[in-house]
Amino acid sequence: MKILLAESFDASLAEKLRAYGEVTQNLADAATAEVVIVRSKVKVDKAFIDAAPNLKLAIRGGVGMDNIDKAYAESKNILVRNTPKASSIAVAELAFALMIALPNHLTAAHRSMVEGKWLKKELERTELYGKTLGVIGCGRIGQQLAKRAQAFGMLVHGYDPGVTESDYMQMEKDLQTLLGKCDYLSLHLPLNDSTRGLFNAELIAKTKTGVYIINTGRGKTIVEEDMVQALQSGKVAGYATDVYYSDPPTGSPLLSAPNVLLTPHLGAASKENMQRIGYDILELLDNYKSGRL
Ligand code: NAD
Repeated sequence: MKILLAESFDASLAEKLRAYGEVTQNLADAATAEVVIVRSKVKVDKAFIDAAPNLKLAIRGGVGMDNIDKAYAESKNILVRNTPKASSIAVAELAFALMIALPNHLTAAHRSMVEGKWLKKELERTELYGKTLGVIGCGRIGQQLAKRAQAFGMLVHGYDPGVTESDYMQMEKDLQTLLGKCDYLSLHLPLNDSTRGLFNAELIAKTKTGVYIINTGRGKTIVEEDMVQALQSGKVAGYATDVYYSDPPTGSPLLSAPNVLLTPHLGAASKENMQRIGYDILELLDNYKSGRL
């Protein structure tokens, strides 16, 4: 079996995959590959699939499957799998890091120091302790974020039509109720018909003035122009995001907006998570080889 390892994972993965067959990292080998393994850059779209007539299994090392045309792949009898459990801690830790950085003005503080300024009075910090956090999308990552926020003494509420109870947050029945009470909102939404463009001007208007918003879910769940306007008016005090309309976000209005903190889609990219994703990929291949997938 030929395995196309189309993107970079943990350095040891290619060697471990050799136990299952011939491993190639050359995209031109898609034409003869039986298995393709991608992260988020390589698109397993209609064109890719049509050019890969031997393909039987497409693995997305990660959570969201936006870069795989699942319906088309399945119509060609190609199995499509991901590694949904591996990344929860890595992404929750990044979301938490962003949530700490915003009210502590960490990027402005650092920049001012490098520029030879001493803004001790100007950079007034606020604490997370005692503040209300709203977690929107309370799946694996949202739960991990909520658990960490509890440890910081935050009051944690959640909204997710698919989750009624949580050990770490009080679940709200509707999004509007949640929005009105939160000092922080952390978005952990997949991109689907119910979430695309959800955070538009109308929804942002329902948040508390001065809210901080953190997005490690998907960029297209917010309307960037509306977010920029809300940042300019002060309705939103800060927006920290790891996710964009496109990677990289060339031409995005966020790049020049005030009070933003931007990271280059680093959520899943911890060293430990790359190893966990590698284990999960090997498990998928075990199951594929033994017909249990
Ligand atoms: P998950 O499937 O465990 O949780 C997603 C939750 O969102 C589900 O419980 C679902 O019911 C809920 N949801 C769906 N539509 C909703 C809506 N309209 N309103 C509120 N909740 C809604 O997934 P997860 O592992 O927690 O990952 C969440 C998302 O994070 C992924 O879909 C992916 O887009 C993103 N992600 C980003 C990175 C990164 O590098 N930044 C890495 C991994 C995952």
